Amino acid sequence: LKTALKDASLLADKAFVAGRWASAADGRTFAVTDPFDGSHIADVPSLSRAEVAAAIDAAETAQKLWAKCTAKERAKVINAWFQLILENADDLALILTSEQGKPLAEAKGEVISNAAYLEWFAEEAKRIDGDIIPGANTSQRIMVLKQPVGVCAAITPWNFPNGMITRKAGPALAAGCSMLLKPASQTPLSALALAVLAERAGVPAGVFSVVTGEARPIGSEFCHNPKIAKITFTGSTGVGRWLMKEAADSIKRLSLELGGNAPFIVFDDADLDAAVEGAMISKFRNAGQTCVCANRIYVQESVVEAFSEKLLAKVSSLKLGRGTEVGTTQGPLIDDKAVAKMEEHVADALEKGGRLLIGGKRSALGGSFYEPTVIAGVTQAMKVASEETFAPLAPIISFTDEDDVIAMANDSEYGLASYFYAKDMARVWRVAEALEAGMVGVNTGMIANEMAPFGGIKQSGLGREGSKYGIEGFLELKYVCLGGL
Ligand code: ADP
Repeated sequence: LKTALKDASLLADKAFVAGRWASAADGRTFAVTDPFDGSHIADVPSLSRAEVAAAIDAAETAQKLWAKCTAKERAKVINAWFQLILENADDLALILTSEQGKPLAEAKGEVISNAAYLEWFAEEAKRIDGDIIPGANTSQRIMVLKQPVGVCAAITPWNFPNGMITRKAGPALAAGCSMLLKPASQTPLSALALAVLAERAGVPAGVFSVVTGEARPIGSEFCHNPKIAKITFTGSTGVGRWLMKEAADSIKRLSLELGGNAPFIVFDDADLDAAVEGAMISKFRNAGQTCVCANRIYVQESVVEAFSEKLLAKVSSLKLGRGTEVGTTQGPLIDDKAVAKMEEHVADALEKGGRLLIGGKRSALGGSFYEPTVIAGVTQAMKVASEETFAPLAPIISFTDEDDVIAMANDSEYGLASYFYAKDMARVWRVAEALEAGMVGVNTGMIANEMAPFGGIKQSGLGREGSKYGIEGFLELKYVCLGGL
């Protein structure tokens, strides 16, 4: 990998703490491997809990100075980081694909489209406006200031090893917070490469740190250290629940982007070609490993056959392979556990009467490759209808009635993304308002961008990322009562 990079210095294998590249004092490391073939890429420090605590001390000192910079000064630094990411997008994509497996073009898309969160929040830094409210009596005025929450801890997943970081660091740094990041242990190299560029961009020492190591002890330190004001997490609902409990002792602010179980509904008035295209993007991007992936595809009975045929044609043209090979559209799944979940959902659906249209088995490529799969005749009783598969399985459930499909779509503890295809304007409004989800894609399978509030309701999370709302989670309101006037 090192020799394939234009700038080999982006491949860092130390933690980045208080502006310094650090090993663990006891020399402990963990291995990063390529999910394509399991080959070894690097060994990265496994920091102890005490080392993480020391990093938090440094982040606290750094935050105080960072918050004192003008918004314009902070914006300049964040923008410089954004520019460096764009300039190095090819290398960042290659590092990402090597440790995560997704096709290179998708990796580059992730890097660029999420760097935009830095650009956006650099601009928003200058618009953290307060308020002046009429006083309760003539000698008083009410002022509302917005101030940074303080030191923030971020925990990010492996499915978007690069993009989930800029989404969190952008608003945090713009608000005047410092951030310590614990990347997923499968994919720390993308995080460390971003740290190299942060340092180069002039992000002050301790304002952005990457602490690598075991999830549990680092997570515990984040939750219990009184100097951490806020935790922002993207990952599974189970871990989110655990963090929320642990962080309760010190009443931490929390932003949680958790699991989803996105319904994707195709009504009989939909443009079927567009719906198939949207389903392909929503279902098969990143081999089905995104929290906004269509998990359940509901198709109105009168068009279900036509839709399934068109979908099948597209799915059969997907090409599995190494992410760096030209033409690859599907990389491997992240690990064997992911394959096991896919196998479980496929077996359960077929046992309960689902009809396999394509796929349904591991790929001849071996490793953690699984063939893109379509199953028809799926029902709400099957596991795939209630659990997030997080793999390339497209289950088709047919329906007849609008109210029924809304009830089925909402029958979930999750409420992250949802999608539907329809043309009738009244139906579009009705369904968009009725779906219990933080995000609704109407006639589109791709909804995330830096200008929109990304996030879930129900057990899919708390808070929003992106948009003018995305900075709020990193700010506290302070009411100043100005009296004696
Ligand atoms: P997945 O199952 O998709 O890997 P996780 O929620 O387990 O999703 O992982 C998302 C992130 O949360 C990763 O960075 C992982 O290391 C981290 N993580 C997992 N368990 C814990 C924990 N107990 N405390 C803190 N972080 C954790």
